[in-house]
Order: sequence, then structure tokens, then C-alpha cells
Amino acid sequence: MGSFEEELLRRLKLLDEENLRRRLRRLASPQHPRACVDGRSVLNFSSNDYLGLATHPALKEAAMSAIREFGTGSGASRLVCGSLPAHHELDEALADFKGTESALVFSTGYATALGTITALVSSPDIVVIDQLVHASIVDAARLSRAKLRVFAHNDLDDLEAILKWSDSQRSKTNGPKVLIVTESLFSMDGDIAPLREIVALKERFGAWLMVDEAHATGLFGQAQRGLVEELDLSGRVEVQMGTLGKALGAAGGYIAGSRALTDYLVNKARSFIFSTAPPPSVAASAKAALELVRSTEGKELLTRLRRNLALFSATKSARLAAEHSPIIPLIVGGEEAALQKSRALLEAGFLVPAIRFPTVARGKARLRLTFSAAHTEEEVRRLMEVI
Ligand SMILES: *Cc1c(COP(=O)(O)O)cnc(C)c1O
Repeated sequence: MGSFEEELLRRLKLLDEENLRRRLRRLASPQHPRACVDGRSVLNFSSNDYLGLATHPALKEAAMSAIREFGTGSGASRLVCGSLPAHHELDEALADFKGTESALVFSTGYATALGTITALVSSPDIVVIDQLVHASIVDAARLSRAKLRVFAHNDLDDLEAILKWSDSQRSKTNGPKVLIVTESLFSMDGDIAPLREIVALKERFGAWLMVDEAHATGLFGQAQRGLVEELDLSGRVEVQMGTLGKALGAAGGYIAGSRALTDYLVNKARSFIFSTAPPPSVAASAKAALELVRSTEGKELLTRLRRNLALFSATKSARLAAEHSPIIPLIVGGEEAALQKSRALLEAGFLVPAIRFPTVARGKARLRLTFSAAHTEEEVRRLMEVI
């Protein structure tokens, strides 16, 4: 026992020395622009609750009503006896929201990526990912045992070169599938993928495409379905993924696509099969969020978020990474410098954690600002002053 702990303490010390040690910060308040940290009230510019739905009365009421009727736990995986009305209703609401034939909800976005990618490809298939995709996609790609190729961030030439190479592999062995995975709005950089061009490439090479819309769901497109909708690509993307814990204010992840896709995942996605179904309250609040996003109030919330973004991007020092992107990274570089800046901001009353390796590359540490419809103009102005 002693030597086990010694080894862990040695490893933690190494992290400390590299300024990569992480610690939990206790947030003694709901997801709201006014957060309570260490007994102090600070302004939160780091939440993914982009529309302020995590504390919305309609979501809370939906959750409480589900608890009253169905209790707190789902009791089993959906394939055993845990597939409750709230799950089926959410699956259907998601398909309707996304305009796809079918949809399937998972407990988390992480589990969605892990289960889906490992179900779709394996050896000797090929999985091709953007250099900056989320860790859940990287982990899934590795676990799948498919050959992994990484293309430089949003670099179409690099992607094309990899697809050409994979074509030559395919003619040799005949049969392997090629799956390209990218995000639409990138989580730590706030920029967007050239989806039209990626779709054109994958069609030319007969590859499949999976797009993770974790940060774009609820924010992009006429019906707020995501960037795939905004670019009118809905019928041309094999696998659309998203999460329910960001703009939608609940928790979970989903896949939207054909009925064949979700039927297949129910049979093959191990993170779906071997995991207890999400609590009915969570599914109910996610469904309420989908209704809210599409209501007049939802449109108003989006307008408020965009007003805040426009206000902030009017300053000289700040530019949006992409139009309407609620994620604005201020790249610092060094890990220690990023930590210092984050601490200084906290002193000044703003919660903006430093984002470091392995969330981003070494030497690319940053302050990741995120905006919400719940921020007031006054709060955005105060951030602008301090930045
Ligand atoms: C947050 C996130 C996930 C994981 O979703 P969780 O529901 O938090 O597990 C997956 N992909 C991307 C791009 C994300 O930002």
C-alpha cells in the first residue's frame, strides 16, 4: 500500500512541476452568471450553459414531474428493463428536432462517441479524425482498433491526402470502411469545420462522416439543430452526434440518423448496452429543453446570446473565432502564465479557468471564455473592461 501511494504522489508532484496539476473547484451555486466560489460571488464566463437552460423552470418542472411519476433511477440498462417512456419520448423528440428518421440517447456525450465509433469501425477499417477533436472521439478511435489517421486541423488538403491513401489500402484488401469524424463547432477553439468541403470529399472517396455537434446544438441553423442544418447538409451526413448537457441544459448525448443506424447501435454500442439507462428526470428535462429551444422564448434566448457576442466582439482585443461562436479562446501559451491570468481574473471577480494539456496541446494553454444568454449587457461590459 505504501509504495502505491508513494508512486501516485510522485506522479502528482510531476504534474505540479509542469503546472498541469488539476484540482476540483467547488461551485456553491447553480449554473448562473453569478457563481459562488470560495464564499465569493464571481461572474462566470466558463459554463457551456449557453442559453441559460440549466436552471430554467420548465426543465426543473419536467425533471420533478418525472421523478414523481417514475422515481429517481432507471433500474437497469434500456435493453433489460430500464427503457422508460421518458427515454422513448426523448428519442422521438430528438429525431423530430434534428429532422432525421431516428435518434438514440446515451447517458453522456462521452459514452455516445465511445459506443458509436467502436460499433461502426474496427480492424481493418480506417478512422480519420481532425487533430483537435474531443478526447471522447480520440479515445473511441483508439479503442475501435481501426487504423487511426489524424488530419491537421480543418486542413482539407491533408484530409484529401489521407483519403487517397486509404483508397489505395482499400483496393488491396477490399472491404475496409473509412469513417471521418470531426466536430462542427470546436470545443476549445470556437472555430468551425469546413463541413461542405468535408462532405464533398467524403462523397468523392466513398467514406462515412460523423459530425459531433456538442457545442452547436441549439445554437446554429434556422431550427437550431446545429451547423449541419445551417449548411443544409442534413441528408448527407451519415452520423450526427450531439450532447444534451451544453446549450440544452440537461445531460446526455445522442446520435441522430437513419433507423438502420440507431437499430444497429442498440445492438452494438457497448456503452449503450452495458450501462444503466439515464435517470428519467434527465431525459424529461432534455425533452423540455428541445421544446423550449424551438419556442419563441428559445429564439429570444438565442438573440440575447448573439447580442452579448456582438457586444464583446466589438472590442479591439476580442474577435469571435467564428460568427455566432459562443466560445472565445484567449491563447496564452505557457501553462503557468495561463494559470496566473486565470487567478488574476478570479481576484477581479471573474471565473475563467485555464485550459491546459491534455485538453489542448502543450504550450497552447488558454483562457476559454464562453458566453450565455443569461449574461446581462452590463456583465459583458465588465468583462471587456477587465480583459
Ligand atoms: C462535452 C463534449 C463531449 C462529451 O459530452 P458529455 O455529455 O459532457 O460527456 C463530446 N464531444 C464534444 C465535442 C464535447 O465538447
